[in-house]
Amino acid sequence: MPAPASNRSRARSADFGQWYLDVVRDAELASYSPVRGCIVVRPYGFALWEHVRDALDRRIKETGHENIYLPLLVPESLLETEAKHVEGFSPQVAWVTHGGADELAERLAIRPTSEAMVGAVYRDLIQSYRDLPVLVNQWANVVRWELRTRPFLRTAEFLWQEGHTFHASAAEAREEAERMLGVYREIWQDWLAIPTITGRKSEAEKFPGADVTLTGEALMGDRRALQMGTSHDLGSNFARAFDIRFLDRDNERRHPFGTSWGFSWRTIGAVIMVHGDERGLVLPPRIAPIHVVVVPIWRTVEERAAVEAAIAPVEAALRAQAVFGDQRIRVRVDRRDDVTPGYKFNDWELRGVPIRLEVGPRDVAAGTIVVAERLPATDGTGAKESVSVDHLPADVAARLERIQTRLLERSITFQRANTHRVSGWDELVDVNAAQGGFLVTGWCGSAACERDVQATTGATLRVLPFEGELEELEPPTACARCGAPASETAVFARAY
Ligand SMILES: [Zn+2]
Repeated sequence: MPAPASNRSRARSADFGQWYLDVVRDAELASYSPVRGCIVVRPYGFALWEHVRDALDRRIKETGHENIYLPLLVPESLLETEAKHVEGFSPQVAWVTHGGADELAERLAIRPTSEAMVGAVYRDLIQSYRDLPVLVNQWANVVRWELRTRPFLRTAEFLWQEGHTFHASAAEAREEAERMLGVYREIWQDWLAIPTITGRKSEAEKFPGADVTLTGEALMGDRRALQMGTSHDLGSNFARAFDIRFLDRDNERRHPFGTSWGFSWRTIGAVIMVHGDERGLVLPPRIAPIHVVVVPIWRTVEERAAVEAAIAPVEAALRAQAVFGDQRIRVRVDRRDDVTPGYKFNDWELRGVPIRLEVGPRDVAAGTIVVAERLPATDGTGAKESVSVDHLPADVAARLERIQTRLLERSITFQRANTHRVSGWDELVDVNAAQGGFLVTGWCGSAACERDVQATTGATLRVLPFEGELEELEPPTACARCGAPASETAVFARAY
């Protein structure tokens, strides 16, 4: 019998980094692989990603995009076509140099991202204004040679989607970049139950080759920030570099305007770090691979037969129950007979299953089932309770929706409590050292001040928030570094 989950080391408060690695391993989300910096995503972890991916894929299609697939290998000359872009990526590119025994005449990059390939492909496909807009998306793997890796958050190979679009006007491209950041935000908030501060990146932090990079930044349980996804307005930079032109309505040949936007499985890392607790994973029900685990409790063969007979119709009724609009309740009956019920409770808590049902002989006789939520509310709502079998499916569905809402409220409360307005240099340094979190301050716009903050505090400029993002905070009027009048409100944080 494996060691009970509660006996394994997992001190979230003492060592957040080690706690994260333990949870990834013990909840069976992912494990290390024979390839340095690459992970094996296990079935439970992949199911979690699939729910996130499917939700996002649906929204990408509802907003008018179609999926495509492009080659994994990118000729070096293509990658080099947009100079700033290659400068940004070159230290991280993995190269294919041989085909069999023969050295290739031109090296092939394993895609770090596909803007260059898109540029080369759409140079031929875009001829006229009738060919615009191009609205495509690719679900793919990419490789970036990272020196320091961490499962889901930073791995040499990872899965993501990359959207690529071309438009006839600059305004349309900007609108598209904003629209897709809005779609991401919906997924982060409504599915992952994670609030973000959205806005623009500074020049220093933006995507190489983009005019403007939009981002959503979230706060993890250790008060460090994580970039949840980005959406880039590429202007006509890539279209010029790849000489993409279209014949406009007035018979002029013009460069189209592009966007690209990416959302990766690092968001799974965010789910772990935002919601998890000392007992392990806590999953938002909307993306949980299993909504409800049923633990049969029996001592004798007769009791076992009675309990199992009672569980069968309950399982069927739960599976037929709708929740979150078009989902059905996802049920697992834990029929293992080599571990105790107590072991199973710990195991499923560690794996973050939102609801546990316990069915013993006394429950069968009474026509009830014990319901326990993974994370009861602070007022005790959701702790162990007996529910009549007849009401169970509707009761469980209502609970799942309440848990989803409660998790979002909890993470919003945490983010607000750890978002600090700092009005001068000393305050910025002190608050960052003592409390961390999001530091909201004024910024004069100079790259030197941005660099100084980073060099002294380790905090980077995460986002220049959209208007209305930090409504409850009066924006500081002076740059925290140099004291000059602030041209922007900036959010600094130490980040992953
Ligand atoms: Zn300044």
